[in-house]
Amino acid sequence: MIDNKTIAKFKDLPTPFYYYDLDVLRSTLDTLKKESEYSGYKVHYAVKANPNARILKIISSYGFGADCVSYNEIAASLEAGFDPSGIVFAGVGKTDKDIIAALNADIFCFNCESIPEMEVIDQLAAKLNKTASIALRINPYIDAHTHKYITTGIEASKFGINTWELEDVIKKLSLLKNIKLIGIHFHVGSQITRMSVFQSLCSRINELQEWFTSRAINLTSINVGGGLGIDYENPDKNPRFEEYFSLLNEFINLLPGQKLHLEPGRSIVGQCGSLISRVLFIKNGSNTTFAIIDAGMTDLIRPALYQAHHKIENLTSDGRMYRYDVVGPICESSDTFAKYIELPETKRGDLVAIRSAGAYGEAMASRYNLRDLPRAVFSDEL
Ligand SMILES: *Cc1c(COP(=O)(O)O)cnc(C)c1O
Repeated sequence: MIDNKTIAKFKDLPTPFYYYDLDVLRSTLDTLKKESEYSGYKVHYAVKANPNARILKIISSYGFGADCVSYNEIAASLEAGFDPSGIVFAGVGKTDKDIIAALNADIFCFNCESIPEMEVIDQLAAKLNKTASIALRINPYIDAHTHKYITTGIEASKFGINTWELEDVIKKLSLLKNIKLIGIHFHVGSQITRMSVFQSLCSRINELQEWFTSRAINLTSINVGGGLGIDYENPDKNPRFEEYFSLLNEFINLLPGQKLHLEPGRSIVGQCGSLISRVLFIKNGSNTTFAIIDAGMTDLIRPALYQAHHKIENLTSDGRMYRYDVVGPICESSDTFAKYIELPETKRGDLVAIRSAGAYGEAMASRYNLRDLPRAVFSDEL
């Protein structure tokens, strides 16, 4: 909820901007810390969801690790105080520069996605006189039942190693002297709301564990990736960490000496952020009324890219309810935040909040149309 005191302070600020409610972020982190400590699981925050420096600092202060996908994310994580021994590095296309930065930082583990990648990490590690710890990202062949662009663990995905390749991977590994296999890694997709998807993943992991055990390969790290969804219809609702953790507890069979790792992104930062925008014009179309706002797909691309739905609230009107299409100013029709939604009578100058925008919002902003990047405003600065 964005309270009236906060709304009053928004009135003097130039829009659009991301508003981060740090009480929401901290309470989410408190729950996550409690649940992960109780289970003995290691959390690595997926930095790509929101790499804002202040947010990173707050998350690192809880002692969590980081899940990075570029050398810049590694640098930002170290800068924010994350310990290198808690950094995992993912990506289907790591560049030499990425790999060298990760080796130099002495990160915890590379999540590897192919034999050619393993070979390059081995060569670069040899040059630097290091041994790289790696986990194999295995394609679990599980449908995440989410948008196709964020489904990552089905057979057609570019991600992960296919199980039919595992035999070759193991053979190859025995020849690579500067990498050490410590675990297996999975990531089924993002914005997963069906808990049964995670249950299927647990079963898949248990099967694969048997495969490794039967070959006397000892793994210490089991990484289930991220993907826990949030409730976009109810922005004030917390992610279902408790349910998620108890499901993992119940269905994953960890072997002695194994630690379970997770990489949540969206579930940590999604609900603490809102995109705040001003209404520029109300315009009548032939079948609809457009509320044209000063935020566009350059500030928040999720509706245009994933047909994502964000709850929109008019913060400054409590008039009669009418139907609006809420659209941005960018020169293309995908620049639409919501169609035919009910809002109290909306006028030029009203402030609207596009809720649940803390994850993959500011992080994906662009300067298309040479627009300014959205600013960030934190609740404790108002
Ligand atoms: C994007 C990503 C995550 C985070 O996903 P969320 O849905 O934001 O939790 C974790 N791990 C990997 C490998 C990813 O690509």
